[in-house]
Amino acid sequence: MLTTLSLDRRHVWHPFTQAQTAPEPIAITSAKGIRLYAEDGREFLDLISSWWVNIHGHAHPTIAAAIARQAHTLEQVIFAGFTHQPAAQLAHELVQRLPVGLTRVFFSDDGSTAVEVALKMALQYWRNHGEAQRTRFLAFEGGYHGDTVGAMSAGKGCGFFDTYGSLLFEVGLLPFPETWDGDTAVAAKEQAALAQLETYLAEQGDTLAAVIMEPLVQGSAGMRMCRPEFLQALAARLREAGILLIFDEVMTGFGRTGALFASIKAQVTPDIICLSKGLTAGFLPMSVTVTSEAIYAAFLGETFDRALVHGHSFTANPLGCAASLASLQVFDDEKTLAKLPQIETWQRQGLATLAGHPLVQRMRVMGTIAAFDVVAADAGYTSAIGAQLKAFFHERGLLLRPLGNVVYVLPPYCVTEAELKQAYVVIADGLAQLAVG
Ligand SMILES: *Cc1c(COP(=O)(O)O)cnc(C)c1O
Repeated sequence: MLTTLSLDRRHVWHPFTQAQTAPEPIAITSAKGIRLYAEDGREFLDLISSWWVNIHGHAHPTIAAAIARQAHTLEQVIFAGFTHQPAAQLAHELVQRLPVGLTRVFFSDDGSTAVEVALKMALQYWRNHGEAQRTRFLAFEGGYHGDTVGAMSAGKGCGFFDTYGSLLFEVGLLPFPETWDGDTAVAAKEQAALAQLETYLAEQGDTLAAVIMEPLVQGSAGMRMCRPEFLQALAARLREAGILLIFDEVMTGFGRTGALFASIKAQVTPDIICLSKGLTAGFLPMSVTVTSEAIYAAFLGETFDRALVHGHSFTANPLGCAASLASLQVFDDEKTLAKLPQIETWQRQGLATLAGHPLVQRMRVMGTIAAFDVVAADAGYTSAIGAQLKAFFHERGLLLRPLGNVVYVLPPYCVTEAELKQAYVVIADGLAQLAVG
């Protein structure tokens, strides 16, 4: 019989991977809680929540049972002209939990499509409003919004997509006022970002449709964090200028920053919000783009050209909706939000064990996310340090996947104090090994 790895090697193309130089993939057979079990008998602590999607731990029985029940009842139905209880109920439950005013839920399949929908919504909102000249978007340096063409355009500030430049539309970039523990220059960085916004407003204010950003934490750029105060100032200025604000909470949603949503933590209500990764607790691909009644109303009319021309084969897949509803149930049953400050404390204690290390810079924590930069001559996503540390962490049974020279820990919420302690011991060992050379 051919092994998983031999079949994989022959036929599979992996994401974000240079297959020629990457190590062999690790074949995982099962997972439970924070643990992954490999075919070859190894075990891993999943400290990045499997690319930031898992929140309650793997194979959570409540969610698995809800999906199984739904699969035996209604697995899928066309969502144009039809609806079903799991979708309607999920829309209702999300609206109850989102910032007040976000009341209309559009379903799609993944974070990238949630962003595509947000961009199309913003553009057409203005068009339907008689301001068809508002076609430009602003985004942030370092921002990442997914890999489809519109999402790559909005995320061109992350620098991954230069190869596809000819496909992308123009987006204006604002500096991201990144900050960390003990940073004394944050106010100046925020002023610079707001000043750049003023320049765009002065030069192209009446052609701007929306600003898109990852609130509080830029994930792929290296867990770069900003202050809630900055989001408040930005949102106030955009409201005054009459420009829409899109929050891409694909990563920050569902508890990551310590509150259910970063927008709640920052006390800023965007006009449009994108949610995905944690939505189904990491069980199934699904996303939503949620907006206000005012924006929804602009799409009503007698003609089809005013409608949002968007929809996917699997829009509002009932299995995904059932998983999401079960996940919200787990949030209630396990009082998950109340556990998050505890995780934040453990993360701070873990980082504190690295304080003063000559290779450790810019320590930062936001809710359940902790990160620091490793001093490197080749700082950035392709820094050799990332691959070196990743291999070391794998050897020691940790799934950690540094973003270049940025090491971060983003665990599922079932993580224990002992598991995080163990992680920081291994991280310190990894740094010691780098120091030796
Ligand atoms: C992961 C991510 C996306 C893209 O989501 P996919 O499900 O990978 O398409 C978009 N925005 C942010 C902030 C993300 O972290």
